[in-house]
Amino acid sequence: MEQKVSALIVAAGRGLRAGGGIPKQYRKIAGEAVLTHATKALLAHPAVSNVQIVIHPDDVALYRQATKYLTLAPVVFGGNTRSESVLAGLKALENSKPDKVLIHDAARPLLSIQVIDNLLDALQTSKGAVPCLAVVDALWRGTEQVEASENRNNLWRAQTPQGFDFTTILNAHLSVIQPADDDVALVRQMGIKVAIVAGSEQNFKITTAEDFTRAEKELTNMDIRTGNGFDVHAFGEGEFVTLCGVQIPHTSGLNGHSDADVAMHAVTDAIFGALCEGDIGQWFPPSDAQWQGADSAIFLKKAMQRVQERDFNLTHIDCTIICETPKIGPHAEAMRLKMANITGLAVDRISVKATTSEKLGFTGRGEGIAAMANATLVKL
Ligand code: MG
Repeated sequence: MEQKVSALIVAAGRGLRAGGGIPKQYRKIAGEAVLTHATKALLAHPAVSNVQIVIHPDDVALYRQATKYLTLAPVVFGGNTRSESVLAGLKALENSKPDKVLIHDAARPLLSIQVIDNLLDALQTSKGAVPCLAVVDALWRGTEQVEASENRNNLWRAQTPQGFDFTTILNAHLSVIQPADDDVALVRQMGIKVAIVAGSEQNFKITTAEDFTRAEKELTNMDIRTGNGFDVHAFGEGEFVTLCGVQIPHTSGLNGHSDADVAMHAVTDAIFGALCEGDIGQWFPPSDAQWQGADSAIFLKKAMQRVQERDFNLTHIDCTIICETPKIGPHAEAMRLKMANITGLAVDRISVKATTSEKLGFTGRGEGIAAMANATLVKL
């Protein structure tokens, strides 16, 4: 059964240490409040169904400004301590009956889908999970001089969001054994194990003035590109067509120098387009006899190799095949799987769809097949 995941952002702190005259969660980076970035990061994950924010009563105007374009649960006010604020948020979420909750700091604006994925994976088998980074620097204890060196083995830097089974964390807050301003500590007092999952250096907490500069840089440096590709092949002699690597029996084949996989060519060109690295024809000249009848997977693999070499990540493919026949629908799933295999991209990030051209034009007259595609790349 699909599990309902809610998120809770604790934004009630005064956070004046970082300067700027207003609580740091409302200061702007890259044009939006820190809180807005943190909220959008949670809303962007397909599994997160609602976000509850807890604020300080003095910040209502700042909150309204920061969230005016977002769809959120009605805001609630926090208490004097972080624990009181978390409890206020959990109580507000109770009505929506979540199975899991991710409790996040407003001051971590660069949360990634990957970190949320890591948490949700762990929460399949654990009642608590926390994103962490291993301590890699040497650790020393002392005041003015070094007095001792500490063993850093098995030491972790904890991040948020911290994920919990909803009932478990609510009970931990309702029946506190030993007061602690830390959700993991409260849950562990109940004898519940909390899993460590991979966090991310990018998911840092804004604390100092320098952190604002760093976050601004990271957010404005984000390089996201969309490329498009278009291709046409004419029908000719043959008993099948190859589309996105899948052979479909047909009354004719497709003419072309390679296997004439018009759809995979459009996808490959979309990727080359996003990289601004020309097109298939430039990488694999038709004048070169070695590409005669070639499996077009070779072309797509080359594009993927370039994606890696340029430090990009392919995050989405959308391909539309335009023809009257053959019928694409029954094969679309196999095509998605085939391209997932070649690119290493998750199948739920690959779309293959089809349309006719209502009997108009060359595709309408059944003279050939056209395909267009978009590919999205994100700089690592
Ligand atoms: Mg072609």
